[in-house]
Amino acid sequence: MEKLSLSEAVECLCSNCEPVVETERISLWNASGRVLGENIISEMDQPPFPRSPLDGYALKSEDTTGALENQPVKLKVIDEIMAGYVGRHHVKNGEAVRIMTGAPIPPGVDCIIRQEDTDYGEKEVKIYKELKQYDNYCFKGEDFKNQQLLLKKGVILSAPEIGIIASCGKPDVLVYKKPAVALITTGDETMMPGPPLKPGKIYDSNMFTLGCRLKELGVLPQCIMHVDDHTDRMVCAIQEISNYTDLIITTGGVSVGKKDIMHEVFKQAGVKTLFWKVSVKPGTPTLCGKYNNTLIICLSGNPFAALTNMELLVKPVLSKMLLNRDLEPDRKTVPIDKGFEKGSRVTRYVRGYLNNGKVTIPTNKHSSGILSSMAGCNCLIEIPAGNYGVHKGDQVCVIPM
Ligand code: AMP
Ligand code: MG
Repeated sequence: MEKLSLSEAVECLCSNCEPVVETERISLWNASGRVLGENIISEMDQPPFPRSPLDGYALKSEDTTGALENQPVKLKVIDEIMAGYVGRHHVKNGEAVRIMTGAPIPPGVDCIIRQEDTDYGEKEVKIYKELKQYDNYCFKGEDFKNQQLLLKKGVILSAPEIGIIASCGKPDVLVYKKPAVALITTGDETMMPGPPLKPGKIYDSNMFTLGCRLKELGVLPQCIMHVDDHTDRMVCAIQEISNYTDLIITTGGVSVGKKDIMHEVFKQAGVKTLFWKVSVKPGTPTLCGKYNNTLIICLSGNPFAALTNMELLVKPVLSKMLLNRDLEPDRKTVPIDKGFEKGSRVTRYVRGYLNNGKVTIPTNKHSSGILSSMAGCNCLIEIPAGNYGVHKGDQVCVIPM
């Protein structure tokens, strides 16, 4: 089978998955990061009434003509309105109403004077400044109007959008459902963290790295499990889990060793192979297939390879399934402040730290089996295929994580 380029592999995966178009109604509290499944049309004006933008006095602007610091106009204070309450009076010439920020502007007035331009009078107030009509006047519907389209279907909800939905009185929102995803790690050598290690064993880190990364990308896996290097058990797991998932991600068993069972698993389970091998390092032996409507992406077991290929291959698939453009590959070109002068026949990805428009390689531990040097890294640096790698000062492509 032909080795695919990264873009061919991504294209193949994306053409073998569908966006989840079903929707569900959820509380605003849970809506952060979700994709809006309806247009949000306001059914009210915001603010619902003209309101005062400051603490002061509501009055008729014509009553302030000629007012100066040393020649104040005196008005009778007939009422006091706090935010949350409604005034009792229609204001006439020669009158003013004490008013606080957010309170409804009473009928009859056309402006608000800030209290600093008055003597703060309680029964009678001295006005030290001339005002024009609608000075400090916050109109009804100034923020948004009844029947206004506030948010379009497909928007990714974050704090401001959720606040907008709340401000028009809706406690919940229709969002697209998430795909059902399963994560399966393989390997006779792995143990769950907790008990002391047995001879020949290592702790399963992929389950946590990839499980948590999926969560960060917005999908809490429906099923997370480990299966030993046992073909029959893995066949059963794939067949069973695919009944209720859109995507299965596995790690380990995709290379050419005696216990690299995933090829045989595909054969026995009847999984249609989409491709095996991608021209990237690490993670060349990635194997992908489709079983009924479930996409299966089998990553290398090497911890850095698994994580890298999650970013390169799984993330674009999630972007399509979740209808979330924020997950589309984000690439930046920045200068690198250190060389990586090791050539490779295929594109190589190394861990980096992107800061202030520059990228650095903060480690010399690059092997795909090494996870520890990933701590503190926030991007992958693309080292183009070729004999030379990259030199200090070169512009490189980085993929923020
Ligand atoms: P494999 O892809 O199964 O050949 O595994 C490649 C390397 O990754 C081996 O050294 C495995 O022991 C290691 N490995 C496989 N699965 C995991 C895992 N879940 N967590 C940590 N390391 C793993
Ligand atoms: Mg293995």
